[in-house]
Amino acid sequence: MTMSTSQKRYAVIGNPISHSRSPSIHQAFARQCGINLVYERILAPVDAFTTYAERFFEQGGLGLNVTVPFKEDAYHLARSNLSARAQLAAAVNTLWVDDGVIHGCNSDGMGLLSDLLRLGFNPEKSRVLMVGAGGAARGCLLPVLEAQCKELRVLNRTPERARLLVADLLAFRPEYRSRLSAGSLNDLDGVWDIVINATSASLSSQAPSLEGLQFSERSLAYDMVYGSEPTAFMTQSRALGAGCQADGLGMLVGQAAISFQIWHGVLPETDAVLDELRNVLKVS
Ligand code: NAP
Repeated sequence: MTMSTSQKRYAVIGNPISHSRSPSIHQAFARQCGINLVYERILAPVDAFTTYAERFFEQGGLGLNVTVPFKEDAYHLARSNLSARAQLAAAVNTLWVDDGVIHGCNSDGMGLLSDLLRLGFNPEKSRVLMVGAGGAARGCLLPVLEAQCKELRVLNRTPERARLLVADLLAFRPEYRSRLSAGSLNDLDGVWDIVINATSASLSSQAPSLEGLQFSERSLAYDMVYGSEPTAFMTQSRALGAGCQADGLGMLVGQAAISFQIWHGVLPETDAVLDELRNVLKVS
């Protein structure tokens, strides 16, 4: 690759990484904002994240997006300079250097929130169900609570993991105790306004087993996984009466927009990039 000296260097690091859509998203944002940059993919060996990330910054790289399986490693790398969201998530997907020091943030939750708003589902005063208690759910709880949802319940196949996640958040923000709860996949009651599938079940074409899940025609069923076809969870939710279903492509673009804002100080417009990506997915 030829690089001019005026080009700023950014990258996404992961393993595997060839599937990542981050380069095309960030390049589209950069064109939109008139910023000259290079955005690469870095494949790091699973046991060598820190070496690769530090080398990238030593060689003049300005920002790194971090994906599976390195978000926890990135959290440790930036542990002295973490945003509140990254601290709570115990995972980092955005790294940058300021005054020679590596900083970290987690933009997944804000990406989710921006997509919910784009879809017309403001969590304010809503009953929100988060299914799953892995890294993605962990990164999204605080922004949903800060958006003033009426209730947020975290359910997981392994309920202890959901309880731990909620306990960690309450240790950090006890003021949310009355609105936040945890349980198993059976702990469902009443109608939910927004149900977010933060499990990886859709990757194997499965939906989490949520017996008794109730939607209304004003409810949203949101799957963090995305693809060319509706996911199993979206299909299941439509059959259960959810008026709206969406996949996580908008969250992907939304979290990239927040990273872009951290690095460049400007929040790009996401709709056109999302449309472009959706078209690419349809034909792939
Ligand atoms: P993770 O840490 O590996 O957690 C996986 C979660 O899925 C756990 O809660 C696990 O439950 C649950 N699970 C897996 N298979 C299940 C099944 N068959 N039934 C019920 N629960 C099941 O993964 P993650 O990092 O949180 O990511 C979760 C998903 O979100 C991934 O598919 C990822 O691609 C997606 N994601 C999307 C975006 C985006 O921008 N759109 C961003 C981040 C993540 P147990 O604890 O019981 O094992």
